[in-house]
Amino acid sequence: MIVNEQITAYINSLEPEQSKQLSEMRVYARENFIPILKMETQSLLEVTLIMNKPKNILEIGTAIGYSSILMSGCISEDTRITTIERSKPMIEQATKNIKLAGKEEQISLLQGDATDILQQLVEEDRKYDFIFMDAAKGQYITFFEPCMKMLMKEGTLFSDNVLQEGEVAQSRYGISRRNRTIHARMREYLWEIKHNKELSTSIITIGDGVAISIKK
Ligand code: SAH
Ligand code: MG
Repeated sequence: MIVNEQITAYINSLEPEQSKQLSEMRVYARENFIPILKMETQSLLEVTLIMNKPKNILEIGTAIGYSSILMSGCISEDTRITTIERSKPMIEQATKNIKLAGKEEQISLLQGDATDILQQLVEEDRKYDFIFMDAAKGQYITFFEPCMKMLMKEGTLFSDNVLQEGEVAQSRYGISRRNRTIHARMREYLWEIKHNKELSTSIITIGDGVAISIKK
C-alpha cells in the first residue's frame, strides 16, 4: 500500500454497494490471488471514462474480466471494448463472466500474448481513444510503442500498478533481483510517458499507482 492504510480503508468504506456480479467477482479474485483493480482505483477509472467518453477502448490484461465489465457499465452502448489475455484459465473465467454480464457484443476478448496481438492490431490500422494498460508490469515499456501508434489524438492511456506497492521508488538494494529488473523497466516506462513530447502525464499515488496520460 502506497498511501496510509487508514485513509485507504476510509475511502473504500465510502464506496456504494456494487452489482452482485462485480462483488462476487471481487471475492473470487481475492480468494484466488488475482490482481484485479483495487477498490480505490476503480472509481478513478470510472470517472476518467465518463469524462473522456471514448468510443473504442483497448485493454491489455483481462484476467477474469472484472475491469472490462466494470468499464462497460460507464460508457455508451455503442462503445467497444477490446481486451487481451494470454492465460488459458483467465480466458475461461473471463469468457464465462462476460457472457453472464450479457456483454459479449460489447466486449471482445482477444486470446494470446499482447506482444503479438498488439503488432497485429497495428497492422490492421486499429485506432483507440482509450487504452487501459494492465498486463505484466515488466512489459509496459515494450507495449508502449504499438499503443502510441494506435492511440488517437486526445486519447487517454491509463496505466495501472505503475508504482508496485511503492517499490518502484525504493533503492534497488532493498528489493529482490527479479523485481529489480521489473522495477527498472517500470521506471523506464514512467520516464518515457513523462518525457514523451506527444503525451501529458500525471502519476497518481492511488492504489498500486496509476499514470494517466493524454495524447496531445
Ligand atoms: N485488468 C484486470 C486485471 C489484469 S491482471 C482487472 O483489473 O480486472 C493482469 C493480466 O494480464 C493477467 O491475467 C495476465 O495473465 C495478463 N497478462 C500479463 N502479461 C500478458 C501478455 N504479455 N499478454 C497477454 N496477457 C498478459
Ligand atoms: Mg491492475
